[in-house]
Amino acid sequence: PPDMLSSAHHAKSHFLQDSDSERVRVTVRARPFMKVEEGHENEIPVVFVNPVKSTVTVRRKGSFVDYTEFKFDAVLGDSATQADVYQVAAQPIVLDVLEGYNGTIMAYGQTGAGKTYTLSDVVINETNGSRVEGIIPRSAANIFEYAANDKSHEYHISMSYIQIYMETIQDLLNPETSNLQIREGEDGGIFIAGVHEIEVRSLEDVVTLLMLGDCNRQCAFTKLNAHSSRSHAIVIITVEKKTVHSLDTRNCADRRRTSKGILVGKLFLVDLAGSERLKKSGSEGLRATEAMSVNMSLTALGKCISARADPTVTHVPFRDSKLTRLLQESLGGNTKTSLIINIAPCCDYIQETLSSLKFGIRAMKVGSRAILNFE
Ligand code: ADP
Repeated sequence: PPDMLSSAHHAKSHFLQDSDSERVRVTVRARPFMKVEEGHENEIPVVFVNPVKSTVTVRRKGSFVDYTEFKFDAVLGDSATQADVYQVAAQPIVLDVLEGYNGTIMAYGQTGAGKTYTLSDVVINETNGSRVEGIIPRSAANIFEYAANDKSHEYHISMSYIQIYMETIQDLLNPETSNLQIREGEDGGIFIAGVHEIEVRSLEDVVTLLMLGDCNRQCAFTKLNAHSSRSHAIVIITVEKKTVHSLDTRNCADRRRTSKGILVGKLFLVDLAGSERLKKSGSEGLRATEAMSVNMSLTALGKCISARADPTVTHVPFRDSKLTRLLQESLGGNTKTSLIINIAPCCDYIQETLSSLKFGIRAMKVGSRAILNFE
């Protein structure tokens, strides 16, 4: 049998050492057992994570000898800290955004697997202010620190916060507007027409907007008697930088968008809707429509990611969903994308865990990582 749920080791950040920089990088994060799951800890485990070998091994139910091993770019066990996750799955993307590229960090997994914790967790401490925890506040802290230390550029940093619910885009920083539309600019860039882009000057600004957006999101869902896990929440941080003494951008790579000598990098931070399949029975009306919509957009995301990894595919179905249309530039292979697969350790979730791991494997370049069978 493979190594037991490994907690003693953290994966080292080997993210950038791979020469194939175009590929989606996939990190698996397994969360610890929660209080409500107590008692399950003693059951015979079915999911084993090995951060050293970057593998997740799943034991087939009812069998002690039948294992499937999945290999990823990085695997983080239950003792991995928020700082570890940031270092492995986010920092390389954030540094690229600061250089004028676009980047996407997204979390995929069933509801309760730890997507929001991984991305948005902030601990508010009355005496010391907010403490960075999840990837969004850490990214913001990283960006502000970098900008403060860079004396040769002037920075303008702004933030939008939207959600995609049943194929409509809602501005979480301006809930009066609904059903925003995605447009393509003259330079081919994708943008959301009319979305609020609010200037942020500090980590505190970002945290305040994050909390405001979350509050608006909860309100909207409470009114609908629905759950926010049925929508995709997306924070977009735009970093514009201008050389202080000259407007010379001759050294810019093609991929960086420049306008009037200003380098612009966009960071998309995506908390995807829960990937669990709703049971056929008992889901009807609004719930069934929501489930179909989530399913459709996650399927479209999977198709676009796989198409990017396969050079023989000529048509990538970006227009199949709002999510893929919005992320078109990120999924198109021009920019860096980091996918975090969140999994929960409990045996009850094994089907969801398997389906999430398979999504992660599909996102990696075809043929670059084999699935080994221990049969
Ligand atoms: P999701 O966004 O995938 O629905 P959440 O992020 O809300 O899941 O996580 C579900 C619960 O598990 C929350 O109470 C969260 O605080 C907790 N949790 C998730 N991941 C971790 C972790 N790595 N360490 C400690 N608690 C976690």
